[in-house]
Amino acid sequence: MNLPVVQVAVPVPVPRLFDYRALPDQSLPPVGSRVLVPFRSRRLVGLVMGRAEVAVADKIKPIERLLDSALIDPFLLDLFTWCRRYYACAPGEAVNLLLPGALRRVKPFREPSPGYIALTDKGRAADLARAPRQAEAVELLKTGARERDELKSAGIGPDILRRMLADKLVEAIDCPADLAGEAGPDLNPEQRQAVAAILRHRNRYAALLLAGVTGSGKTEVYLRVARRLLARDRQVLILAPEIGLTPQLVRRIEKRLGCAATVYHSGLSEGERLAAWQRARDGRARVIVGTRSAVFLPLARPGLIVVDEEHDGSFKQQDGARYHGRDVAVLRAARLGVPIVLGSATPSLESLNNVDAGRYQLLTLSQRAGGASLPRWQVLDTRGQEGILDQRLEKTVEQHLDAGGQVLLYRNRRGYAPVLICNDCGWQADCHRCDAHMTWHQRPARLQCHHCGAEQRTPPRCPECGSPRLAPLGAGTERLEDMLKARFPQVPVHRVDRDAMTGRADFENLLEEVRDGQPCILVGTQMLAKGHHLPGVTLAAILDVDQALFSADFRAPERLGQAVHQVAGRAGRAERPGQFLIQTRHPEHPLLGALLGDDYLGYARCLLAERHSARLPPARTLALVRSEAHQAEPARQFLVAAARCLRSKEIEVAGPIPAIMTRRSGYWRFQLWLQSANRTFLVDHINQQIDNLHKLPNARRVRWHIDMDPGEL
Ligand code: ADP
Ligand code: ZN
Ligand code: ZN
Repeated sequence: MNLPVVQVAVPVPVPRLFDYRALPDQSLPPVGSRVLVPFRSRRLVGLVMGRAEVAVADKIKPIERLLDSALIDPFLLDLFTWCRRYYACAPGEAVNLLLPGALRRVKPFREPSPGYIALTDKGRAADLARAPRQAEAVELLKTGARERDELKSAGIGPDILRRMLADKLVEAIDCPADLAGEAGPDLNPEQRQAVAAILRHRNRYAALLLAGVTGSGKTEVYLRVARRLLARDRQVLILAPEIGLTPQLVRRIEKRLGCAATVYHSGLSEGERLAAWQRARDGRARVIVGTRSAVFLPLARPGLIVVDEEHDGSFKQQDGARYHGRDVAVLRAARLGVPIVLGSATPSLESLNNVDAGRYQLLTLSQRAGGASLPRWQVLDTRGQEGILDQRLEKTVEQHLDAGGQVLLYRNRRGYAPVLICNDCGWQADCHRCDAHMTWHQRPARLQCHHCGAEQRTPPRCPECGSPRLAPLGAGTERLEDMLKARFPQVPVHRVDRDAMTGRADFENLLEEVRDGQPCILVGTQMLAKGHHLPGVTLAAILDVDQALFSADFRAPERLGQAVHQVAGRAGRAERPGQFLIQTRHPEHPLLGALLGDDYLGYARCLLAERHSARLPPARTLALVRSEAHQAEPARQFLVAAARCLRSKEIEVAGPIPAIMTRRSGYWRFQLWLQSANRTFLVDHINQQIDNLHKLPNARRVRWHIDMDPGEL
């Protein structure tokens, strides 16, 4: 006899689903249901992913409780199943990706009630002479929608409200009233063409890469298209990078689209995330703006997906299910049959390659919108210059400040100095657990490893020779801030990095202040480079590109080009022309030549040609098997054995090779490179072999995982 069972995804790092049977006298819950199941000695919340029949075995336990029937729709389950295969992640990740945190716990799911209560037409016309409390409520609501709490303090309690809701005299709504969306500027011809090209596909899937130089009005294009789809009562999902999703962007979207945006990112409380998830699911959220995890939000009436700054590395998740939010978004759009717009001033080589392959349509915006021009570029050769700040740079900064401009200096290094060195014996403060120097911070004073987070006190003397002559080598943002403050005491100097801007609010407040337009200097990390519109900035400079010129990571030239163009793009966004400087000790480097000689797309095309000739991604698909352990040998040995499993005709296997940072957090790290021109074959093959990998002798002694389309090496 066969027993019908459900296959349940349970949030444990085990590469399989688990079978459960129904409770006596109950039927099996449908696929997509949220269930409570016994697991080992615990009880866990799981998702029903499928059904099967097994030969009767008493080992199969019953579901303990059905929490929500068919909570997740089959499209999302399918999308996850694709991710699970493609990214070779544990099926239990379904629980983490598809359910907001609040639903991963046993607590029952209560439909959150929308915040506001508004009068309906029926309520407005009703004769409530015999229900004085209700009449009172109607009077109050005639002046506008109110929050439940406000009504309660006006003496209109939940009982009365429930009554009125049932009689449809009032209704619960998300936000008081739709704002009247602002019309926005007249689009220029390139923008109009882009909008028309996207809208041509409004009822079906199409992927469009909107490549527009910084400030060319890409956001205007998304918003124009979004308006049209909202007017047809469709939902719009906008994904943005972690750093790019600012209240400024949200406000702009709301103003232009005339409705509240539902925000979804990891900075929200669990309750807020749950409420947003629910609003997306039942369609009340018309515009959703979120980071990568929002790609898995349920949508009642999807109409458009936008991925802003599509090249950004933060779309790739670095642990658990190592998915790429942009790529999953494209797949999701294809399955939903809606258009997706990928926007960037510096598109990824992957997306350009997809354009060349005919999978994406390219739309370009070649000019800045609204009359601003792109900044003048200049390379500063710093060979033979003493000191941290080049004198010519200082002069230029001074000129811009004197002319009433603002200055933005980019240095992607937090802390006071990247190295603390002994001037007598040459000792350097290194992290004991990583192949890395400790960064010297002064506010507060400490040495910190930026890779594992280890911290220690700054030693007063050299631990090797006892000399007190310890000195900083190089400069991070803290030291630059000090030097700039000393050199330019007449203007405010703002440091923008994760240490200085701890809350989202800090950064927002600073941006507000800077937008006032008074001369000032901004010095900071990539937080500064991304997407912010700072109309007063007339000078932008990259203080050091040299490290990137010689990096071992094959993606470094691409990232360098993106950083350079993004920083350059901060300058001259308003009427005043901008200037952009790059400091380097290698002005003759061919990469710099290529970067300066052309626009970003030209540069990217060169890099793409190189990737093809080197047979690197995106020319071929790359998957890494990574392993790490406290000792090098087991980590390496595991990969030697894994290589034997994975070798196959259409796959080139290389390694084990050490990761670029071979030791991190006390772990030795190695990787195996699997490359194939046949993506489907590679994915299939990994899936066929994954059980064998789990059975390898060292599989339980080392930490290992597969990383498809890796972002970091
Ligand atoms: P991007 O997203 O490409 O960086 P934005 O859409 O943010 O560019 O536009 C940059 C600035 O130019 C914004 O202040 C925007 O309001 C303005 N802008 C965009 N399109 C136009 C246009 N067609 N006419 C005038 N100003 C525009
Ligand atoms: Zn010393
Ligand atoms: Zn470390």
